[in-house]
Amino acid sequence: MNRTPENWVGQTGRACLAILLALYFTFQQTNGSSAANQTRSDVADLILHNGFIWTVDESRPQAEALAVRGDKIIKVGGAKEVLALKGERTRLIDLKGAFVTPGFNDNHVHFASAASFFWNIQLMDVHTDAAFVARVKEYIATHPNEPIRGGGWGAYEQWEMGASAAGVKKELWRPDRKLIDALTGSTPMFISKFDNSLYFANTVALKRAGFDDRSADTDDITHVRDSQGRATGVMRIKNPRGAEAKFLGDDRPDHARRARMTENALRLVREAGVTSFQDISDHEQLQLYNEFLEAERLTARVNFRYGIELWEQMKSLSVKRGSGNAMIRLGAVKGHIDGIMGTSGARFYEPYDNDPAKSNRGHWRPLTWVSPERRTELNRGPFTEMMIKADAADIQVTVHAIGDEALGVMLDMIEAMTKANGPRDRRMRLVHAQVFAPRDFDRLKGLGVVAEVQPFHLSDDMRWMEDRIGYERCKGAYAFKTIQSKGATLSFGTDWPGTSASIYPINPIYGLYAAVTRQIVQRTPPEGWFPAERLTIEEAIKAYTWGSAYASFEEKIKGALTEGKLADITVIDTNLLRTKPTDWIDERGNVKVKTLYTMVGGRIVYQR
Ligand SMILES: [Zn+2]
Repeated sequence: MNRTPENWVGQTGRACLAILLALYFTFQQTNGSSAANQTRSDVADLILHNGFIWTVDESRPQAEALAVRGDKIIKVGGAKEVLALKGERTRLIDLKGAFVTPGFNDNHVHFASAASFFWNIQLMDVHTDAAFVARVKEYIATHPNEPIRGGGWGAYEQWEMGASAAGVKKELWRPDRKLIDALTGSTPMFISKFDNSLYFANTVALKRAGFDDRSADTDDITHVRDSQGRATGVMRIKNPRGAEAKFLGDDRPDHARRARMTENALRLVREAGVTSFQDISDHEQLQLYNEFLEAERLTARVNFRYGIELWEQMKSLSVKRGSGNAMIRLGAVKGHIDGIMGTSGARFYEPYDNDPAKSNRGHWRPLTWVSPERRTELNRGPFTEMMIKADAADIQVTVHAIGDEALGVMLDMIEAMTKANGPRDRRMRLVHAQVFAPRDFDRLKGLGVVAEVQPFHLSDDMRWMEDRIGYERCKGAYAFKTIQSKGATLSFGTDWPGTSASIYPINPIYGLYAAVTRQIVQRTPPEGWFPAERLTIEEAIKAYTWGSAYASFEEKIKGALTEGKLADITVIDTNLLRTKPTDWIDERGNVKVKTLYTMVGGRIVYQR
């Protein structure tokens, strides 16, 4: 049976309503208090001096000192004029030549997924008994009484084998519950191999699911046994849905655990020098941001996007562009129309080159209420209509489109939306915008769109892009220079924490490296992949700061180090304008650049 949009919103809307209202009241309070803090004097609270300050402000690109009062920048310039604002209580920081940029603003994260990913046990580099035991020990020490989930064992082992001589037949490492049962005690553990081909449970978790040493296999679960026939804890599971609940007793972290996960992920954000991120998560995550804001523990600014289906709920609550405050902003929605490159699901005009049948052109992503048998179609009419209505309600529309046909169709839809609602500054965001057909580039002109791209995707994908879509189509892939020259605004971010196949780290250095070199971290290809599309470091920093602020209609308050703007500042130990990209990341993919300070609204949230 088809579900209508009205039905869908009706069912999910109620939970959202309460949260939106709670948010609304928080915003009122926060907005009220900031005005009361202002005083008359122009003495600085904080002065940074003796730095190489890259402002991303064309009227004064570079400065050596900067003064902050309250949450704003009050002076940018030479040492003498800035130090003149020093008072008795002014905190003075000698940067000793360190490099300063506007705080990095990540245009696209899945914070709730990242929070859970980085909270769970990480075993991607584990493939020996000793490493496994050590990692479990460490996890228990830092996460007492937490059911142990996550895993990813064997990923590095597999990659190393792929890279070394083919044909070497080697027994791959597997865990055994006898290694860690004594360590885990009464805490259940249920983890997976990196490719989900195998799962592993300790004895406590096996028992909870009704298995012991000698249990027979079931329709769904096949045990891997040792030479005595004892179940080792490793299993093949046909239908892993619900398995976590079966083995661990719960399948969803409770609110308190999500708060701990949020705290941990916020730490990763501030360590990376990121002062704003633009999130696509669930309602509970939004609620957590609110709680963290009230407790003064929110250490980055958040832009939160709902699914496009919720536009009507937002409209009825007058949530629109600009809603919220400078810490938690709402007002945009996100939709999808195609799949992703990693699974050959991005939608193209012509079939993928590596598809032997030459029939796969990727797939459309349908609206959620469409019946299963119609799910391969694009719901072009209803989707466009939804965009038009959301846009008319002054809600910013952002849509995932990756393959060349998806982008072409998205441009049609934007044209239809513009025609229906008239021209205006709407900054429609093309999310990911990975492969343009050359003929579509010129259509970017005059549309005022933002390309919400994640340059590290380029480093990750260039290894196999030409095999999948061929040389000609790759000319339009991650074509940042062309996108920019055709009049779209470039905005950078990460897509943190990545896909099941790749981790996309939150650290902006990866994206800057990729945009400037168009190489993988092993420094190939030597000139870069389609080198004409390389950006300068100045352009790349701008996309990661000003561009992302522009993308969310906030360039008037942040995105550059200019007097009057919020004091969101990142200080790193490496001058990105005076060093080579090879100085930023080593060939094993480790970032060499160190964050020295991260400041949000003049508050130092991270200090090395
Ligand atoms: Zn994403």
